[in-house]
Amino acid sequence: MNIAIIAHDTKKELMVQFCIAYCGILSRHNICATGTTGKLVAEATGLQVFRFLSGSQGGDQQISARIACNEIDLLLFFRDPLTPKAHEPKEADMLRLCDVHNIPVATNIATAEALIHSLERGDLDWRNIVNPSSVK
Ligand code: PGA
Repeated sequence: MNIAIIAHDTKKELMVQFCIAYCGILSRHNICATGTTGKLVAEATGLQVFRFLSGSQGGDQQISARIACNEIDLLLFFRDPLTPKAHEPKEADMLRLCDVHNIPVATNIATAEALIHSLERGDLDWRNIVNPSSVK
């Protein structure tokens, strides 16, 4: 599966801890991320993370483009709804595209935990039929 991860600045540490906790599961999939999020996760976990541009440089739009092509199977986007910054990715377009393609998406750690366990159980295996190129 192709898993995309993004975290707003105040949620990056949480994302790192999440990825450390679920490193074993994540290591069996293709991970991509916006620049800074990907760097932090790769350094903390040793996971291979394909890094797009930083969010401020359009990395979120690069991920959106892959979502639009139905190439992302799971999006974990830890957003900070309380202190949005101008340069941080806007989630509305990205979430809309996830809805267009029925792509499972979590915008907080509670849902991310549920989805990662679903992934491990095989509940998301139907994505391999929709997107056969994502089988690792
Ligand atoms: P980043 O992008 O991972 O490059 O920081 C996300 C953001 O801008 O919040």
